[in-house]
Amino acid sequence: MPIILFVLLLLSISPIAAAKEESNEVKLNRISQFLSNSPQQSESLINELLDDWQTLEREERAKLMMYQSVLHTYNGEYEAAIVLLKKSESLKPDEVTQILIYQYLATNYIALKQYPKVLDLMTANLERIENVLDIEIKIGAYIRLSNLSLELYAYEEQREFALKAMELSQNNYAQEYCIAMLLSAYADLSEAKYSRAKKGLLASRIFADSNQMPLISLMSQKGLASVAINTEDYQSAKKLLEPVLKGYQEFNFQTEINHVNALLSQTYFGLGDYVQAELFATKTMKLNDEPNHIQNKSIASKVLSQLYRDSNQFKLAYEYLGLHQQYENQLLDDTKAKANAYQLAKFKHQEQAREIALLNQERQLMETQKELDQSAQTNNVMIVTMLVGSIFFLSLFLFSSHRQKLRYRKLALIDRLTGVYNRGAGQDFAENEFVQTCLREAHFSVVLFDLDHFKKINDSFGHATGDWALKHVISVVKPLIRDGDIFTRMGGEEFALFLPYSNEEAAIEIAERCQKAIAAIETKYSGHQFSLSASFGVSSNMVDDLSLDPILKRADIALYVSKNAGRNQVTRYSKELKEKDQNQNETIQLGLS
Ligand code: GH3
Ligand code: MG
Ligand code: MG
Repeated sequence: MPIILFVLLLLSISPIAAAKEESNEVKLNRISQFLSNSPQQSESLINELLDDWQTLEREERAKLMMYQSVLHTYNGEYEAAIVLLKKSESLKPDEVTQILIYQYLATNYIALKQYPKVLDLMTANLERIENVLDIEIKIGAYIRLSNLSLELYAYEEQREFALKAMELSQNNYAQEYCIAMLLSAYADLSEAKYSRAKKGLLASRIFADSNQMPLISLMSQKGLASVAINTEDYQSAKKLLEPVLKGYQEFNFQTEINHVNALLSQTYFGLGDYVQAELFATKTMKLNDEPNHIQNKSIASKVLSQLYRDSNQFKLAYEYLGLHQQYENQLLDDTKAKANAYQLAKFKHQEQAREIALLNQERQLMETQKELDQSAQTNNVMIVTMLVGSIFFLSLFLFSSHRQKLRYRKLALIDRLTGVYNRGAGQDFAENEFVQTCLREAHFSVVLFDLDHFKKINDSFGHATGDWALKHVISVVKPLIRDGDIFTRMGGEEFALFLPYSNEEAAIEIAERCQKAIAAIETKYSGHQFSLSASFGVSSNMVDDLSLDPILKRADIALYVSKNAGRNQVTRYSKELKEKDQNQNETIQLGLS
């Protein structure tokens, strides 16, 4: 689950030029200091300088607009912040200010989920930073890059940058050192390494408290609360979160307050305090649907759904579960957007970790879907029990139990891994259809295919990757066949498409489309890169075919010709093939004797 560590992006050092005597310069420096611990004070200073706009030099104007943008970001007004930052950049300030502008821009684009822009800025800035000599600026830049990477689930880069920042700040820059520490603890938290995360967060909290860094302390505590929630220690979570909420309220950091509200709803639910849980969850659900709120609303809708389920308000429970599902979907899209952004920017080779995160999310989504199904079922049963006696509902019940039975029957016919018919069921249905088509003197075709070198995929990347490949093969083939066609798993990695009312030409065309679609599957989303293909055999009914069996046998012969000819191809059965096949068998037999 991604963790909002957004405010951190706005912190870290803003370089302070050697104070000149000029009061404008001094004021600007004070603003930059206040921004991280007292936004109200910085706001009034900003207003003072805005009144004196005419007396400001170009560089000072650029800085002032940049600082002004930070206040907008605090308030969640990202577009307004970006407008100011672009104006500031157009004044062509010095290199250092430019680096800061890019970092703030990246921060706002993150909030708006415009990841390709973020990555462009990061890549451009990285080059800039490496050429900068000033150590403070370097530290600040690495910290932001680390934080940006964390937002994009790129934990490897995130650690790399945090480490660089820690190295450079070790002796002289307490605040930066502490932030870098916090960042790596949050990476542990994101990767569910809770005991390591807890150690890091405790350390950064103590460090922050003893160095008067209230915001970093709050963030450490929020992180500790997340650890507590994830380890179901809701008492500790509550003890941590209540003061954290107050703390953030003093800073008026709406982004963080929203997240804490969501965490509090989860915590109170865990403690069985449904009144408070509902209060915080409802507050969270009132947020609008802008991208930054989705994570929180996902948490809150789940809490509400569980809460209503526990108090037997099934209809509400069901509604909120639906909402939860919808938000999870959005989060998944967001993860995909992040993944795409990476591909676009080719920002290092972090593909594997990212794809795995993506797949994990996909799995989570499936679990939610399952929950939704279950809840739908409970809901039905509830309605029924409430209204027993009424004929209408009794018949509803009968209907649903009939459907249930059908569902169970169907389950017995379906292959669990791939969701297509298993061999027994598929062949039964196909046989039936075959008889029908014979009566009508119509065509019937069989496409048989077997994945190529599948054993090698299992052996090299594990069974789970093999399963992944099987499921993806199904998902690309399914859209290519018609409703009446019968898709069957014949066993292992061998499948049959039974095509009633299709002649051989049509069957060949379908087989060729399937072959291309399988070969085009992007396997890197499995977390590994490998080539995936299948070999096909096609055959259609002939006048003296009395059952499916001979057609299947011929398709099988054609399939093995495809295999022998180098795989990843389609072969149509012909008499010559049969003769060749027989010759080959004879040769083998001769060789053996
Ligand atoms: P060829 O191109 O000649 O077909 O080579 P192959 O490696 O695909 O053929 P082989 O029949 O030797 O191997 C099939 C493998 O498929 C062996 C078996 O472990 C694997 N397999 C069968 N069912 C499943 C499954 O449900 N999941 C996974 N992951 N692997 C499976
Ligand atoms: Mg095979
Ligand atoms: Mg096989």
